Amino acid sequence: MNIILMGLPGAGKGTQASEIVKKFPIPHISTGDMFRKAIKDETDLGKEAKSYMDRGELVPDEVTVGIVKDRISEDDAKKGFLLDGFPRTIEQAKALSEIMQELDRTIDAVINIEVPEEELMNRLTGRRICEKCGTTYHLVFNPPKVDGICDIDGGKLYQREDDNPETVANRLNVNVKQSKPILEYYDNENVLKNIDGSKDIKEVTSDVIEILENLK
Ligand SMILES: [Zn+2]
Repeated sequence: MNIILMGLPGAGKGTQASEIVKKFPIPHISTGDMFRKAIKDETDLGKEAKSYMDRGELVPDEVTVGIVKDRISEDDAKKGFLLDGFPRTIEQAKALSEIMQELDRTIDAVINIEVPEEELMNRLTGRRICEKCGTTYHLVFNPPKVDGICDIDGGKLYQREDDNPETVANRLNVNVKQSKPILEYYDNENVLKNIDGSKDIKEVTSDVIEILENLK
C-alpha cells in the first residue's frame, strides 16, 4: 500500500497521518524526517543535501528524489509507505513515478484532504497565546473563558505574526498554486481520492480508512 497524503496547511494532515499508521503497518515518511535521517546516517545523498542546506541553498530535486528512493527501499517500507510533504513539484511527482516503476511498484492512492480556504483561514488565524505563561488558545476550538484573557493567570492574549490573516492567506495561496498541478497529475493517473476534511476529525479518519481498506 503506497500512499501519498496531501492537504493544505490546517487541513489536519498530521492527525490523519498518525491515524493511518496506527491502522496500517506502513511507516509515515515525512520529507523533514527523511532528510534528518539521511544526514544523521551520513549517506552520500545525506551529505550532499547537507552541503546545500549549510549554504542556505535549496536541495536540488535529484538529491531529494534520491533520498526518497533510498527511504522507500528500506525494509520497513517494502510493504508500503505513507509519504507526506513529497512530491512538492510536478517534476518530483514525475520522478517518483519513474522510481516506482524501477522498483516495480505503484502509487495506490493520493489522499487529498480538502477543506475550504475560508475554513482554513478560521482554523489558522484563531490561535491566541498568553503573554505571561505561553498557554495557547483558539478562538473557535479552545477559547478562553474571558475574551482576550488567560484563564490561568489573567495574562493578555496575543496573536503571533505568523497567524495574522494576511500571512496565512499568503501561505495558503502559495500552497494552492504548488499543489494544483500535482493533484491534476494524480487525477490523470486515476489515483486521486478527495476527502471532505471539513467534517469532524473522526469522520474524516473513518472516510480515509475506508478508502485505504478498499485498496487491498
Ligand atoms: Zn497565562
